[in-house]
Amino acid sequence: MHEVALSTQLAGVVSRAAGDRRVLSVHLQIGQLRQVVPDTLRYAWSMVTRGTLLAEASLSIDSLPVRLTCPAGHCSEVDGELDLHCPRCGEIAAIVGGEEFTVVDIEVESLSVD
Ligand SMILES: [Zn+2]
Repeated sequence: MHEVALSTQLAGVVSRAAGDRRVLSVHLQIGQLRQVVPDTLRYAWSMVTRGTLLAEASLSIDSLPVRLTCPAGHCSEVDGELDLHCPRCGEIAAIVGGEEFTVVDIEVESLSVD
């Protein structure tokens, strides 16, 4: 279950960004080539963050499609099974997107001013 390793890495990144503030939510973009199952990631995240300042943080996950560009410059998105042939000209295309694992933003508890 590589979601545990990803969650551990993610917890490190998020807690560095949040400092000693409690984290409410984490917004992620994950490319489909990462083979991440969102529910599994949420479960792993809840295990990894239990008892920490991240324990209440929910994950909001956007799944990004695999994107291809062929030698002729046609761009396409892969829907379903990974096929590297350009749907327009049939040439073998290069993968230009789909491997993302990006923290888009982090919502933290606001500090009281008194
Ligand atoms: Zn093409």
